[in-house]
Amino acid sequence: MDEIVGIDLGTTNSLIGIMDAGFPILLADADGARLTPSVVALPEDGPPLVGSPAQRMRALRPRETIYSIKRFMGLRGDDLRDEDMDVSYEIDRSGAQVSARVNGQRYSPEEISALILGKLKANAEAALGHAVSHAVITVPAYFNDAQRSATKRAGELAGFAVERIVNEPTAAALAYGLDKLSTRAKIAVYDLGGGTFDISILELNNAVFEVLATNGNTHLGGDDIDTALIRHLIQNHDHLAANPEAISRLREAAIAAKHKLSSEEFATIEIPFLDGETNFSATISRAELEQLGRPVIERTRAHCRRVLADAKLEPADLDEVILVGGVTRMPFVRQFVAEVFGREPNVTQNPDETVAIGATIQAGILSGAVRDVVLLDVTPLSLGIETFGGLMNVIIPRNSTIPIKAGEMFTTAVHNQRSMSIKVLQGEREMAKDNWTLGQFEIEFEAAPKGIARVGVQFEIDVNGILHVLARDTRTGSEKVVALQSAIDVSDEAVEAMIGDSLEHAFTDMAERVWTEAELKSNEMLAAVDAALLLVNEDLEPAMRDTILQRVSDVRAALRSREAKRLKDANDALDRATETLAARIVAKALESAGTP
Ligand code: AMP
Repeated sequence: MDEIVGIDLGTTNSLIGIMDAGFPILLADADGARLTPSVVALPEDGPPLVGSPAQRMRALRPRETIYSIKRFMGLRGDDLRDEDMDVSYEIDRSGAQVSARVNGQRYSPEEISALILGKLKANAEAALGHAVSHAVITVPAYFNDAQRSATKRAGELAGFAVERIVNEPTAAALAYGLDKLSTRAKIAVYDLGGGTFDISILELNNAVFEVLATNGNTHLGGDDIDTALIRHLIQNHDHLAANPEAISRLREAAIAAKHKLSSEEFATIEIPFLDGETNFSATISRAELEQLGRPVIERTRAHCRRVLADAKLEPADLDEVILVGGVTRMPFVRQFVAEVFGREPNVTQNPDETVAIGATIQAGILSGAVRDVVLLDVTPLSLGIETFGGLMNVIIPRNSTIPIKAGEMFTTAVHNQRSMSIKVLQGEREMAKDNWTLGQFEIEFEAAPKGIARVGVQFEIDVNGILHVLARDTRTGSEKVVALQSAIDVSDEAVEAMIGDSLEHAFTDMAERVWTEAELKSNEMLAAVDAALLLVNEDLEPAMRDTILQRVSDVRAALRSREAKRLKDANDALDRATETLAARIVAKALESAGTP
């Protein structure tokens, strides 16, 4: 296999690496920098600038300089929240896809990301002295299909064959775990970057990584601390708020001060002529910054709790907590993580580079340069289809290891049905209507009595987390395959909300499922009893007939009452009352078939 590079396409910074004689190394640009700012400047009067030169343009031309584009990857206009719009350039949410608009030109997030990836490619080629054309690219664990597909397209636009999309925490764990392959360990990966937060729990077992659970938020990160800091800095300078150029320059200085405060107690910000006349000057202490940043960091706590609950672990079960993302350089973030997980986090990795190192190792595994490590990821939400009564029938449960293939057989609900509608759902609720519809399609088959047609539905989630749904009529073999590439444009907040809702409504949802199942059973039995009574009418003793009719009317009354327990009991009673009836029908059928 050809050489493959590993790429961490970050919200704030991006990196590229390659395996060299069995070791992952990150490649630097001509200035010796390994971190390439994920920034693109699109000046009206010249070619696009990417990376550090674009970063320098950000303060001067805030409306022409695009940063944090990863927040918009694969999103539609109505996925955007107000805080998404808090960027210095124009966001156009009118089309099917969100785009950035600079000097009247629209740019999709893929196009901007492709420019960043193209810059990394050029850096790598200059460093290596030869072309590179295959890549592994990382994404946050919570990216949905649309966001993963958009990332893949960006890679392709940049001229890469994208060999795999890998989750960032998984890559980080790989970077961390390579030298400890023989130990069995449970690891929490706390990844707080510029714009995304991911928390994952992985198990390392005999050279195999398994993600036990994952959780996160793509709208939480160091950018939020920057915003809080800037608000604090301009609180006595109201006029600055309406001046994007000044805010952009201030942001740059504020970020530098924030970084300095990770190792020092005080930082001073001095910007002469910030808005043409004001000389801006402020001193900020580490304690003040921590106070501003604490609400941002506190928001990660609930995700940490949830991931532990999903993995069915207590903090004490963890063998290691590792830190990823530039924000985890802040001392109070390390203390916070230590408090949440009850153990000191491991800080031996360079938090800015761990994901890229892991992507490079994964690239090495794929190209054959590294052997014996397998990567496994998990599904963030359950996937299934709608069945009779509007119920959600789960085919792949939440937190299943991927790649995965699972299927089930379904049958028809009415006579001579000629087609079945397959509605693909994602979510944790018991009723289909409360889950998200990823797609819907029809499978046709030959008309047959109800319950005879058999349709096999198979779900397959590939290594990139993309869902392929196959439906096959088992009698004719006719089948349909649908790849749900970009069917779910939902934000991580929605994923969280879904899990929250499922917990909140667990009780009523379950009651509704119990009721619906009982109702389906009643309807089935009432129809069967009607048919059976017609068949054996004259052979039935009046007493038995009366009992059955009484039980039938009990079921009908219970149906009207909408009390699940009463309906279940009535169903059971009718079931018992018709046992003899069923036996008679069988006997009669055998008789008429000529068997003694
Ligand atoms: P990443 O997305 O992992 O590159 O992380 C970028 C985020 O980490 C940005 O918000 C940076 O400002 C922040 N960051 C990087 N270095 C430091 C540091 N030394 N102290 C505090 N925050 C940092």
